[in-house]
Amino acid sequence: METATSHEPAERGQDTSARATSPTSSAPPAITDASPFATRSPLDDRALSIVEATPLADLQGLVDRARVAQLAWADVSVRDRALAIGKIKQRILARAEEIAELVHRECGKPIEEAALAEVLPNADLVDYWTSAIEELLDGTTIELDALSYPGKMGRIHKDARGTLALITPWNYPVAIPLRTLVPALLAGNAVLFKPSEITPRAGALVASLFAGILPEGVLTLVQGGGDIGSALVAAEGIDLVVFTGSVATGRRIAVACAERLIPCSLELGGKDAAIALADCEIERTSNGIVWGAFTNAGQNCAAVERVYIDKGVADRLIPKIVAAAKALRPGVDTAMITTQKQCAIVRRHLADAVAAGGEILVGGAPEEGSLAFPPTVIKLATEDTALMREETFGPILPIFIVDGEDDAITRTNASKFGLTTSLWTRRYNHAHTLAKRLRSGVVTINNHGFTAAIPSAPWTGAGDSGYGITNSAHALAELTRVRFVLEDRNGAKRELWWYPYTPVLRTIAFAMAKLRGGAGIGGRISALFKLIGALPKRLTGG
Ligand code: NAD
Repeated sequence: METATSHEPAERGQDTSARATSPTSSAPPAITDASPFATRSPLDDRALSIVEATPLADLQGLVDRARVAQLAWADVSVRDRALAIGKIKQRILARAEEIAELVHRECGKPIEEAALAEVLPNADLVDYWTSAIEELLDGTTIELDALSYPGKMGRIHKDARGTLALITPWNYPVAIPLRTLVPALLAGNAVLFKPSEITPRAGALVASLFAGILPEGVLTLVQGGGDIGSALVAAEGIDLVVFTGSVATGRRIAVACAERLIPCSLELGGKDAAIALADCEIERTSNGIVWGAFTNAGQNCAAVERVYIDKGVADRLIPKIVAAAKALRPGVDTAMITTQKQCAIVRRHLADAVAAGGEILVGGAPEEGSLAFPPTVIKLATEDTALMREETFGPILPIFIVDGEDDAITRTNASKFGLTTSLWTRRYNHAHTLAKRLRSGVVTINNHGFTAAIPSAPWTGAGDSGYGITNSAHALAELTRVRFVLEDRNGAKRELWWYPYTPVLRTIAFAMAKLRGGAGIGGRISALFKLIGALPKRLTGG
């Protein structure tokens, strides 16, 4: 056993942990350009540790090594794989503060949020998969009709897919990779993991959790930007690409995979709606929507990015939402925008919406250059603006008043995205009926967006949100390859359907068609007599 990353291009010269650049350290160290990597913290612009990219020229060799390692890893019993990977739970929990601090510095999210979203659910994740995997990978025997298929038995196996490329974004840089790494490795795959160039230090930390517990080459950390990502997808020997990120990149990856006839799993963007019906519980709805919109400064694929409020409750609910947004403490409750590029998109969407007549109820764009975008609530009279159509990925909560639930559902489903939708109402049975009409991979009733943290609940989307499935047994369908094995103990010299093709065989075939429903009762009786006459002839060579 060797550490997963000991042989990888690692960070140059500095500690991978946030301690190296903690807020309490003295003056920011001088740094050299480490393009394409982010080099400064969104929190305070202080220097982050330098990260070195994996040389493009090394990539094919790393994939080749992973392929060899995968064959041996798949031979390890499922139980032993589970015992090995189960060890990372304790490592995650023991390093909770280090993980939260690193994510805090590298992404700019509050420490509490980092601990709650990037540490604790991962312990549940490891528990779920290590205890469920043996049963989930267990083969199944299928029933075969003894008359049609005498002496035969069939078994369905779930084998590892092979060698995977895992490419991930920056917004949840620990939790998102682990959601695939844990089940993929348990299923016997080898993984080449490329974290985002915005959060390479969190990526290195994730890989380090597996250090010393996996054979060499089973998990390989690949650092770099889009060029390395696309070279990884194109590398000879990748059997599956698991991608979480933007629609534009996802589309490119889907095309590249289609060319090579390899599958890909795509978890892409969102434009989640929260629908507040007239009978919603005002306090819970306002608090839930505000959390759903502003956690991680809205940099969440499942952030509330549209709120449709029934006109019957708008006058009571909107002031509560505004008050809850106003009460958020900058830097304590709210995250920074992680990159200037993202901040520019958020500014543009807000400016477009204001130009389209939107009324800002609280917040507004910060001064140029600042990443501390305040929670912003805006009331719109038109949906004809990027703020209601494109993914904003920022702390803006657009409110649109609707004329009843049908109006809300039509508008929700009109989006090209279909990740998650929340329904806020006290009529639970009715909400379940409405849920069936929503074009969303996840629907939550009186809550929003947190279910990605539940390892047994499938996380998936529709439309431009992609078709990948993370979490739950359903995710294993992507991470494994089905193999059917048939065993034949029939001692006969030949099967009924083998050569030679004769008139007797033709009689048998058509008689069987009639017997199975191709004729009325009279036709079936006559077919039965024909079959009884023909079968012995066939068995004696006719
Ligand atoms: P991105 O598409 O810019 O980058 C994602 C990853 O793809 C990065 O590692 C990047 O280096 C890599 N990449 C870029 N170009 C590539 C190429 N041509 N080939 C291969 N890899 C390439 O996305 P981002 O800005 O890092 O992440 C934000 C997006 O992720 C948002 O749209 C968000 O909604 C989405 N997201 C979706 C989910 C989900 O579960 N559906 C979860 C989190 C984030």
